[in-house]
Amino acid sequence: MVERIHLAKPRGFCAGVVMAIGAVEKAARAEDRPVTVYHSIVHNHTVVERLRGEHDVHFVESLDDITALPAGSETVVFSAHGISPAVRERARTLGLATIDATCPLVTKVHTEAKKYAREGYTILLIGDSARHQEVIGTRGEAPEHTIIVGVLGKTGEGLHDPHTVEVPDPARVVVLTQTTLSVDDTRRTVDILKARFPALVVPPSEDLCYATKNRQDAVKAIAPGVDAFLVLTSTHSSNGMRLLELARDLCGRAERLETDADLAGLDLGGVKALGITSAASTPDDLVQRVVAHFRALNPALEVVEEGEWENIEFREPRKILPTENLPR
Ligand code: SF4
Repeated sequence: MVERIHLAKPRGFCAGVVMAIGAVEKAARAEDRPVTVYHSIVHNHTVVERLRGEHDVHFVESLDDITALPAGSETVVFSAHGISPAVRERARTLGLATIDATCPLVTKVHTEAKKYAREGYTILLIGDSARHQEVIGTRGEAPEHTIIVGVLGKTGEGLHDPHTVEVPDPARVVVLTQTTLSVDDTRRTVDILKARFPALVVPPSEDLCYATKNRQDAVKAIAPGVDAFLVLTSTHSSNGMRLLELARDLCGRAERLETDADLAGLDLGGVKALGITSAASTPDDLVQRVVAHFRALNPALEVVEEGEWENIEFREPRKILPTENLPR
């Protein structure tokens, strides 16, 4: 029986997710007509279903799908993961009003990509999938200059191996990263690239975001004192799946839950001390329901919260009218 739960702090929503969900809710209330969101606003099924259920919100994977939506759906919110300039341009030509909920920490990487591409560098963009929305958006800033490199151990369509990737001019090469990767695997991948390209430019401030680093640190702090971990995350949340891998590496035993409904059938035999954390896009009421489940099984359950909450907020994005959406 679980006797003690260690709740990771921080866990759950980061500033970018709070800002992005708030942008959709505010638009839905203000518009009094349908609002379209380009891509899942954040990578969590519960968040998306709640927005669909509580507001007149539609999600599309192509701006051209807007023609199939009810009239009045022409205000589009761009998701926290960012978009390529091609999507921004498509919105402009379709005459859409836009609300850009891209996380500012993703925008920072876009700015770096544009700067280095202008200066003639090849950008080695470390990512966990060439199909991740954030990687697509960042690469879109300078597709001819960008090569996507798989973070240590990752292979797959569109990912280059850091041990073998080639660049046109080894004297002009820079490394940028997706914001939500494993801190340790990213450092090792950069080390491999540095050994291969001694002139590699590593921008002074890392691209991995504070929320990714802090949630991984919290798991590292708790892992030595627990028998197993539960990680609440959707499978398409990059930062959440990295938490699951890390917890599994450190603890040997870690399970993913989408919601508390996944507790049914979960075998935690022999587990007395349990760590719990959640992705940057997982609502905290799901974590509280998991805790309530274990409290119902053991009224003497001890719940320990470790670590510190973050104190970061991002400014809400403003709506850009079609007449203001000028070519960049
Ligand atoms: Fe921004 Fe990091 Fe949150 Fe992604 S996980 S929205 S990059 S703060």
